[in-house]
Amino acid sequence: MAPRRRRQQETTFALVRRLWRDYLRAHSAWIALAFGLMVIEGSTLGLLSYALKPMFDRVFVGGETDMMWIVGTGILMLFVIRAVTGIASRMITTRISQTSATEMQIDLLRHLMALDTQFFQKNPPGSLMERVVGDTGGVQGLWRTIVGGVGRDMIALVSLFVVAVAIDPVWTLLALVAAPALILPTLALQRYIRRKSRQMRLQSGRRMIRLSEIFQGINPVKLNLMEGYQLGQFEAIVQNLVRNQIKMAGMKGLLPGLIDLVTGVGFFFVLIVGGRDIIAGEKTVGDFMSFFTAMALAFQPLRRLGTTAGVFQVAAANLERLYELFDEKPTIVSPPSPAKVPVGQTEIELGGVHFAYGDLPVLHGASFVAEAGKTTALVGPSGAGKSTVFNVLTRLADPQFGNVTIGGVDTRELSLEDVRGLVSVVTQDALLFDETIRENILLGRTDVDEARLREVVEAAHVADFLDQLPQGLATPVGPRGSSLSGGQRQRVAIARALLRDTPILLLDEATSALDAASEAVVQAALERLSEGRTTLVIAHRLATVRDADKIVVMQGGHVVEEGRHEDLITRGGLYARLYELQFSETTT
Ligand code: ADP
Repeated sequence: MAPRRRRQQETTFALVRRLWRDYLRAHSAWIALAFGLMVIEGSTLGLLSYALKPMFDRVFVGGETDMMWIVGTGILMLFVIRAVTGIASRMITTRISQTSATEMQIDLLRHLMALDTQFFQKNPPGSLMERVVGDTGGVQGLWRTIVGGVGRDMIALVSLFVVAVAIDPVWTLLALVAAPALILPTLALQRYIRRKSRQMRLQSGRRMIRLSEIFQGINPVKLNLMEGYQLGQFEAIVQNLVRNQIKMAGMKGLLPGLIDLVTGVGFFFVLIVGGRDIIAGEKTVGDFMSFFTAMALAFQPLRRLGTTAGVFQVAAANLERLYELFDEKPTIVSPPSPAKVPVGQTEIELGGVHFAYGDLPVLHGASFVAEAGKTTALVGPSGAGKSTVFNVLTRLADPQFGNVTIGGVDTRELSLEDVRGLVSVVTQDALLFDETIRENILLGRTDVDEARLREVVEAAHVADFLDQLPQGLATPVGPRGSSLSGGQRQRVAIARALLRDTPILLLDEATSALDAASEAVVQAALERLSEGRTTLVIAHRLATVRDADKIVVMQGGHVVEEGRHEDLITRGGLYARLYELQFSETTT
């Protein structure tokens, strides 16, 4: 048990050290100032209890009126100082805790966006949102506790202790007689709280995942009459959370409760022994009052420190989870000194590409060439690995064996910015952001003039439906573009790609969801888009396939046939069979 505990404490220490190095050291001037103010604030309590000795011995017993004014004014000043330093130090601590937590959030988001796609398959959006917002918020608590609580309260305790020892060391010892009884429960509680709060963070994550899935899939939820089911699931999660919160509150309250008991025992002994000393004339009433006040004033900070242990563990659990995320490393990164694709060379070649999603092999040595400026169609049954080819090409995934070259350069030798800057991807689930159409086309670019924007809007046939929209280009498209139709969304995505004007175009053409009229318009826009670009298209429609410069037929992760439409039909292989199947489907 002991080594485990030691290891846990070591990691807490290591975590806090990392936090200090990464986020707090930069604020060390403010921290020093806050600390200075807290030393002043904390020590006023010691001085206050000390002031009671002359108050009793010289004013009440000795009858010195002058002294009454001096001590009275002194005490008033102490409170003024407490108020001023208290306000200032709280403002500074809030400033430090808020800025450092925000810095952490920004860093975390930057880090998360750089992680591999596979990471996002294992970690649903809801859980990540909870971690970016919730966990960093929890760390803020740590900061408030260490500086706010520990700083101020520890100093108050030290100053009160000094006063107590100065009055009578024996009394002080007696007051603390029961304190060792706190040590074991404190250690056990810390472990419990750490474990529970980790559990609770997981449960909060689950709560957020459930919510984000419900809201993103609100229509399927309604259509499948799943409201009751979803509510039940949500309720189960939150009820668990509430149960844990109650348990945790009980455990956190245990320590202050124990402190109450320990203090009570201390009071008792001091009263008995101190009372005898005063009756025997060895001590004055002022001594006793001063000592007793010091003890009473120590009570609150001590209780607060008792709860601090819990807060510290909660924050440590958060920190642990945060640093777990920070320690995730992306495997798909730019090389240290990236190569460049020779200008104008955009031929794409897959050479013996093997790729597996985890344990599931998907590409088994796929090889083909897509010539520069030409259209290459990828066809094959569903699950053949066509979309995976796109992922490998854009480096959303890296092949385990084999390579992908653009213009003769291995994509892994290029920077990620270059690879993605060369390629525009237009897929069936054209993802729009909850902004206006204009913003969805510009994607943050500010160097586009109105005329150019107009041009792409016309060419992508977005202009055709702008008139029907209340605010034209300034119409918001709703979450994930939900207020536009499928065909309209696709046309916005085409406009986007036209504006990006990259030499390579990857199209996943799933126009099956569109009606004949929309399909014709989208088709026209796509043709305009692919003009003069190296185009790789996952083809579902005969027209594209027939006109393609080359057709690559895939099956089970292999390229099984290649050639032009007529050649492949003559060959009578898989393509001819697929073609026949589609042809009979479309004519019947
Ligand atoms: P196609 O585009 O030809 O229909 P895909 O490349 O989408 O085929 O998929 C090929 C295989 O890889 C399928 O069996 C699919 O289940 C699997 N697959 C696709 N994407 C993933 C993923 N992100 N994680 C795990 N398996 C995947």
